[in-house]
Amino acid sequence: MHDEFKNLSTIAAAAIGAEIPDTGDIAPHIKPATTYEKGKGYSYYRNDGPGLSDAEAVVNKLEGGEGALLFSSGMAAATHLLIAMGHGAHILVPETMYWFLRFWTENQGATFGLTFTRYPNGDIDAVRAAVGNLKPDAVWVETPANPDWSVTDLAAVAEIAHAAGAKVFVDSTCATPILTRPIDFGADVVMHSATKYLNGHSDVLAGALITRKADKFWQKITDVRTGLGSTLGAFEAWLLLRGLRTLDVRVKRHCENAMRVAEAFHEHPLVYTVNYPGLPTDPGHEVAKSQMTGGFGGMMSIRVNGGGDAAARAVLRTKLFRNATSLGGVESLIEHRAPVEGPTTPTPQDLLRLSVGLEDADDLIADLEQALGQ
Ligand SMILES: *Cc1c(COP(=O)(O)O)cnc(C)c1O
Repeated sequence: MHDEFKNLSTIAAAAIGAEIPDTGDIAPHIKPATTYEKGKGYSYYRNDGPGLSDAEAVVNKLEGGEGALLFSSGMAAATHLLIAMGHGAHILVPETMYWFLRFWTENQGATFGLTFTRYPNGDIDAVRAAVGNLKPDAVWVETPANPDWSVTDLAAVAEIAHAAGAKVFVDSTCATPILTRPIDFGADVVMHSATKYLNGHSDVLAGALITRKADKFWQKITDVRTGLGSTLGAFEAWLLLRGLRTLDVRVKRHCENAMRVAEAFHEHPLVYTVNYPGLPTDPGHEVAKSQMTGGFGGMMSIRVNGGGDAAARAVLRTKLFRNATSLGGVESLIEHRAPVEGPTTPTPQDLLRLSVGLEDADDLIADLEQALGQ
């Protein structure tokens, strides 16, 4: 319905694509049935269900794809995509990427016959050289990348990869379709941890894949989901749809608040550096400006003077920023990342990851001031 509306704020707020039964209800329904009468379009929920396709339709329209699939987590979405490449596939992945997916590529991908080679984030010359020398089957991009928020030029990677016959997969969890639609820059499949901004309320675990083309590879991914049985549940799909309706306003406020926090700390005497692509001094700023519209996201990291000990102390002193993992919810979170990621992490010991929420920016800045300052 309403295919004439293309603006993302309208798609999100009006849940365009979701089928609301003609009973006058303004809100979408929870549709928990696991099996359906034959001949009416659905058969069994593990394959597909109406509540699931409601949320998938909205996610798909937001990303501008030809299809979307929802999974039980972001990790499920990412690993299904990689597994669907098949035994023997070789994938270029960035040095800095969501840590547990990095861990999976190092420790579990081999179980599925997959091999991985790393490239330095944002380094297009390195991507070109690796694609030329190694002839990978796909290139994985995460931009901005968790947790150093380095930026990678999506159009440049897509051009290099496609010229060599490789696919491009983009983890766009922290950009969200409100800021970047990777398909517009040539991505073949976009991945989200919908646990984060898409849902936005820290109360659903979910993952999404969106495809540029509803081709054979997409059918394979769909079959892998049915086979492994990792379909998102109906209640979670409904909660996700509820969260999606405010995506546009939430993301804009996250961006505004994050910009304020970044500006307040990037020359602060207790801070060594702030990683945030919205700062004109950030190495990723120019590329970010060219592929992020309307803001630079709600995620940043602060590297504090005083090393790992100072970082460990600061997270115990915040009152408004809660000391917890995850990101993209309405509430602000702070985390000392390196100890979480273990001894093999490239993340520096002095790094605090901030998920800047929707609270008042002055309150957030004051909270960090007092936490860093004692
Ligand atoms: C959280 C996250 C994931 C993993 O998603 P889950 O929903 O936790 O499984 C993947 N990529 C990024 C960038 C994330 O932040």
